[in-house]
Amino acid sequence: MKGFEFPIIGTKVSGLNKKFDLNSPSGRKQYFKAKAGDEIKHIRQFLEKGSFVAYLLGKKNSGKGTYAKLFTEIFGEEKVVHLSVGDLVREVHGNWARFSKSSAFDELKRIYRGYLSFDDAAGALLGRRTEKLLPTEFILALLKLKIKELGGKSVFLDGLPRESDQVSYSLYFRDLAGYTDSQDIFVLIDIPESVIDERIKYRVVCPLCNTSRNKKLLITSKIEYDLESNEFYLVCDNPTCRGARMQPKEGDNLGISPIMGRLLKDEEIIKTVFSLHGIPKILLRNHVPVPEAKKYFDDYELTPEYVLEVDKKAKKVIVKEKPWTIKDDNGVECFSLLAPPVMVAMVKQMAEIVAS
Ligand SMILES: [Zn+2]
Repeated sequence: MKGFEFPIIGTKVSGLNKKFDLNSPSGRKQYFKAKAGDEIKHIRQFLEKGSFVAYLLGKKNSGKGTYAKLFTEIFGEEKVVHLSVGDLVREVHGNWARFSKSSAFDELKRIYRGYLSFDDAAGALLGRRTEKLLPTEFILALLKLKIKELGGKSVFLDGLPRESDQVSYSLYFRDLAGYTDSQDIFVLIDIPESVIDERIKYRVVCPLCNTSRNKKLLITSKIEYDLESNEFYLVCDNPTCRGARMQPKEGDNLGISPIMGRLLKDEEIIKTVFSLHGIPKILLRNHVPVPEAKKYFDDYELTPEYVLEVDKKAKKVIVKEKPWTIKDDNGVECFSLLAPPVMVAMVKQMAEIVAS
């Protein structure tokens, strides 16, 4: 972030020269064991009896969902869940007819307390437009209800706090949710805006399964070339999509410019939380200055850029890999890390928190 950087937490293990396949679950399993096996064991022991509520805070498109997913891959869905406030609100909204007749609805009404009447708060949900926020008290009641269903699992909460004035709610949220004995943790993610910009600009989505990939940074196994439009396109890897052509979304060519307001707000919240005392914080950064990369990381842990070329005679697409560098928010030339090495930094910090 501008004028302020988190520490670099390297993954190097002395004597370990093996290269791991970070694209497959089995490759990642070996990788995590080699890079943070002891820490994983400690966290696993903690999760036998204990739990945590972790607030994921990062700019839009900083990979919050990816990190929660990787953590769950290591520790298991029976122990940890990723709870997105946005998804929860959409789910309740989408199933309102059924939900409003359920016993969960009565429970929601019972636990809700706020400045608006319950009916007005529910009305705000039903008439919700994306730019209009629901009353925080209503969101808290929805979350409390949802968390009760989880039966003591640890939670990565994504989407709260979303506004600066919601930060203080998160300080007391675990008590409100009946998770009083849980460890609460803030997970702060720092990612350069240039990385978010390229993730958006080159993003493509499968029209059938909605899987998202990137023509420059995260390709599929099959790539085709359209002779008519002189364009490369990614073919969805999902076998049920039967070779669907992945498409850019409207407006993505503009990159971060339409969401600058949101990014600024997210940064303000991260800085506010960073200055808080009393709740432990995990600090993640996904970028490393080029001159320092070798000291802390192995080459295969850095995000490559894919360069596509077409061999017109052989009628096939040739994929070349090269190192990808970007300027961070302070103008320093950096590599961007793949998600697994960032996860190693998360696991190392979390092991310390749950041990104390
Ligand atoms: Zn698909």
